[in-house]
Amino acid sequence: MEKKQYQLGDIVQMKKQHPCGSNEMEIIRMGMDIRIKCVGCKHSVLVPRVKFESKLKKILRSTGTGETSED
Ligand SMILES: [Zn+2]
Repeated sequence: MEKKQYQLGDIVQMKKQHPCGSNEMEIIRMGMDIRIKCVGCKHSVLVPRVKFESKLKKILRSTGTGETSED
């Protein structure tokens, strides 16, 4: 089992899709809780980190840490 690596600004796919039909979420705040924003309808939700990780399916796009330029 590999640990999922995610960071601020990443686009992630959740196991359960949002009611709007999109299942892509952007990480817009990280802390003890993680705030994610639905790419489809821009609705944001705050979820505990543990809950977020259990619902996370995969990382779709990673922004990198600034060491590399954007693609
Ligand atoms: Zn949505």
